[in-house]
Amino acid sequence: MAKQKLSREERKALERQTEKEEKILAKKREVVYREMVTAQKNSLKKEKVAPSDVFISLQHINKIYPNRVQAVFDFNLDIKEREFIVFVGPSGCGKSTTLRMIAGLEEITGGDLYIDGEFANELEPKDRDTAMVFQSYALYPHMTVYDNMAFGLQMRHLPKEEIDDRVHRAADILQISEFLDRKPKALSGGQCQRVALGRAIVRNANVFLMDEPLSNLDAKLRVQMRSEIVKLHNELGATTIYVTHDQIEAMTMATRIVVMSKGYVQQIGSPKIIYNHPANTFVATFIGSPAMNIIDGTFYRDHIDLNGVVNIKIDKEMLKAHDEFYKKEIEKASLRIEEIIATLAKFDEEKKAKGKNNEVTNPEEDPEIIKLREDISHYEKCLNNESHEILFGIRPEDIVDQNSAVLIKNRSDVMPLEISIAELLGNEYYAHVDFAGKDVIAKVPAELNLEKGQKLNLVFNLDKYSLFDKVSGNNIKPFKD
Ligand code: ADP
Repeated sequence: MAKQKLSREERKALERQTEKEEKILAKKREVVYREMVTAQKNSLKKEKVAPSDVFISLQHINKIYPNRVQAVFDFNLDIKEREFIVFVGPSGCGKSTTLRMIAGLEEITGGDLYIDGEFANELEPKDRDTAMVFQSYALYPHMTVYDNMAFGLQMRHLPKEEIDDRVHRAADILQISEFLDRKPKALSGGQCQRVALGRAIVRNANVFLMDEPLSNLDAKLRVQMRSEIVKLHNELGATTIYVTHDQIEAMTMATRIVVMSKGYVQQIGSPKIIYNHPANTFVATFIGSPAMNIIDGTFYRDHIDLNGVVNIKIDKEMLKAHDEFYKKEIEKASLRIEEIIATLAKFDEEKKAKGKNNEVTNPEEDPEIIKLREDISHYEKCLNNESHEILFGIRPEDIVDQNSAVLIKNRSDVMPLEISIAELLGNEYYAHVDFAGKDVIAKVPAELNLEKGQKLNLVFNLDKYSLFDKVSGNNIKPFKD
């Protein structure tokens, strides 16, 4: 679509509007920051009791940087001993900030952190019993591998024999014993990263914190080191928190995954749950490759019409879940509006008390409230109207060639769809088909010998589809294990 050119007046009006919105947003950020800092100060005066049965606990953790950028919002997670937790999400979503708060390298603005039965917010990094591995291995170039690994222990004045013992044991586990006399420049990237891991292992820490440790390695080495780190975890049993933007690392390494986006936790669960029951379209399309197909549809109260290509039956249970979902969304949005109104009022009151001005902020000009009101009106329509738009999600492997679908109990009607591209990956095709104008990908066996323009008779595995609200992107289907 061609970009519409705005007139001078329209441009000016838009600028004024943006300025106004920015001003309101800045007010809210300031109030949220100051309230959080005060609440945290008061909270720190109280006695802290570590939750039982949990090794690391993050309770309502927030991070606001001095420039008022909120990098992490209300992060809650209980980690059991020996778990391998992966924080995954796109760059800038707050993974490293959260990890660095656990390590003690970044102050916690709001919330409580417990490590191994102790309130840890104010513990020095060295007193946290954690060992960190970074993306850049940061080895000392003038020191041998042995000295690189021994250095931290020497600084702590551990006995020489103890240091020697720990370094050799770690070198043994990592299979780098033969390189102990070498300097880092005589090592490959993979070997350097092993030394960095070695430096963490010799500390005998109970917790490993790893920040994108494999990002600097080439693809093949990454796959190899991935399994080595998992093996290492199985051997040492140290509780591990691992940060990555790579969803395959998350899926293959984690006992539990925390998916993040824009500072918010989107979902926490085992790889299987995250994959089979994504909380929203963000998780659905971020995890899995090729991504889950998201198809526009119309929800009627007894079926979904997918662009006239096929109808999906809606049973009573699904309808009940649908209605409950929308009632909850309305409740959530209404509560949030109340919260924002209170925040804005507080800002005005404080200003007035200080005699600065008597300006009253109109909440109805707050962009977040405007959006929330629109959302509520959408949710009400979804609840009360005969039909509404919806997003239907289906993974490429759950779109099956009719002849291979005999074992699938719950199938859709057959859809003859034209192939636009057939990508052969050796054992299977990624068949791009034209689904009423939308590119949809199906994974089908290589034996089919596909060609562009050919029609494929496909069915959906209806035990596997997801259903998302069009506006919030949240999953409407109830979770079934
Ligand atoms: P990730 O690890 O997921 O890539 P980060 O935790 O590094 O994300 O960053 C989260 C957000 O916080 C980003 O918007 C980033 O720009 C911002 N941020 C990170 N460090 C600082 C800082 N020292 N000051 C201000 N903003 C920061």
